[in-house]
Amino acid sequence: MRVVILGGGISGIAAAHLLLRESDAPDLRVDLLEKRGFAGGLCTTVSMGDFRFDLGPHNIHSTDAWFDALMRELLGEQYRSRSYKAKVVFRNKFVPYPMEGIDVLRGIPLHTSLACAGSFLWSRVESLFREWEDEDFERFIVNRFGRRMYEVFFGPFTEKTWGVPGRLLSADLGRQRVGIFTLWDLFKRTVLGMKPKAAITGEEDPFLNQRTIYPDHGSGSVISALLDPCLADPRFGLHLSSEVDSIERDGGGYAVSAGGKVFGADRCLSSIPVMDLLRMLRLPDPGLRCISTRFLLLKVSRESVFGTTPWIYFSDDRTLFNRISEPRSMSPLMSPPGATSLCVEFTTAGDDRVRRASGEELLDWTVSGLAGYGLLRPSEAGEWRVIDWENTYPLRLVGYRESVAAALESLSGHPGIIPFGRLGRFEYLNMDHCVLDARKAVADLLAGCAAGAGA
Ligand SMILES: Cc1cc2nc3c(=O)[nH]c(=O)nc-3n(C[C@H](O)[C@H](O)[C@H](O)COP(=O)(O)OP(=O)(O)OC[C@H]3O[C@@H](n4cnc5c(N)ncnc54)[C@H](O)[C@@H]3O)c2cc1C
Repeated sequence: MRVVILGGGISGIAAAHLLLRESDAPDLRVDLLEKRGFAGGLCTTVSMGDFRFDLGPHNIHSTDAWFDALMRELLGEQYRSRSYKAKVVFRNKFVPYPMEGIDVLRGIPLHTSLACAGSFLWSRVESLFREWEDEDFERFIVNRFGRRMYEVFFGPFTEKTWGVPGRLLSADLGRQRVGIFTLWDLFKRTVLGMKPKAAITGEEDPFLNQRTIYPDHGSGSVISALLDPCLADPRFGLHLSSEVDSIERDGGGYAVSAGGKVFGADRCLSSIPVMDLLRMLRLPDPGLRCISTRFLLLKVSRESVFGTTPWIYFSDDRTLFNRISEPRSMSPLMSPPGATSLCVEFTTAGDDRVRRASGEELLDWTVSGLAGYGLLRPSEAGEWRVIDWENTYPLRLVGYRESVAAALESLSGHPGIIPFGRLGRFEYLNMDHCVLDARKAVADLLAGCAAGAGA
């Protein structure tokens, strides 16, 4: 059986790892095609001399026993629990993130917090008389926090990050990203000492899920741990700088062209953006879009910039960057003694100022922005590099679920191609979810092969 895996991020690599481990097909051949010159996708850890950078902070928040056991087996001691809390700049103050009720009130002047409290109470009264309808992200927040909180914090932050107004974004974004489910939940928990419904029913509790795992040498360690056994397996081939540019039916299978070569496949597992896969198969464009990120990696000649805080969100329009992480705050082994580094994220949703900026401009915006908060002296900024990454986040606009369903439905005419992974299925998946998704894709592939053999 010839299996071609499209995309060499964590999803593709985990699929190769699990397939080689679990298949007993005597003629198994697995080829993994990756367009970049390195494997790992967004989970890559980039080295600049003695400094290591992840592309944005990459912590593992798994609550899955199977995933944890696999990682412990592969990473051993390095699968290390850590405890830290991020911050957000809110009205020029640095407050813990996710914000808790009292932090929110600390960040804003008294009259604004009174207006927020009033609008929150009004939303509670309103909710007694009508069902919440979360038509979009804006409504999701207004229903739970009140209109004023949306205008003061969530609206501007969201628009800065996603490049579109909250009313165009799906409520799913709120369900997944907002740490506090409602201020009312927070009040019940902290003041009345009540357990949330999720904890009672045994579901994942967003309040309690503070556990974080971070390998000593960055998220790239997970990639090496999954990939190294594949590289030692004669049934496996890794093809870097091999961008898939066409897929054609070929007998009962497919001919996949990448990097000037053609790979014959009985089955394909595809973790490349589903929009690209559909285009290659000449299927309708479902109109799905992503946002992209420009990462500025910067060495800094001082011991620490953020202290123990691993990353800070910059929610206001004072700066153009959205988030800055300090790898050293997650693991001291990410930079040499006496020095530190920063990974600065600028998101771009189209042909905007960020996309058009030169590397020097991104550096200048970073240094002057941080100097404005008293966090960095310009003379401390050292060597830097910009990494441009297309399609970092699926843009979940209102109605995106229907578009994704239509895209996956149109692929049903190709049962030999299994889409999976973050952009393969256009789902907001984290690293652990990607590995679980790879496990499911491999199980589906093996089940399909067994059914084919039995027929
Ligand atoms: C800034 C940021 C911070 C994050 N933080 C966390 C975190 O703290 N914790 C967490 O668990 N997750 C985090 N994530 C999410 C995590 O990075 C992703 O879930 C995961 O890396 C997605 O893996 P993937 O393999 O599905 O996709 P990708 O990593 O996107 O891999 C897809 C691969 O396909 C390749 N490709 C694309 N087109 C082609 C083609 N035509 N031919 C060949 N190859 C192609 C790409 O080059 C890429 O290597 C974060 C993501 C971002 C952007």
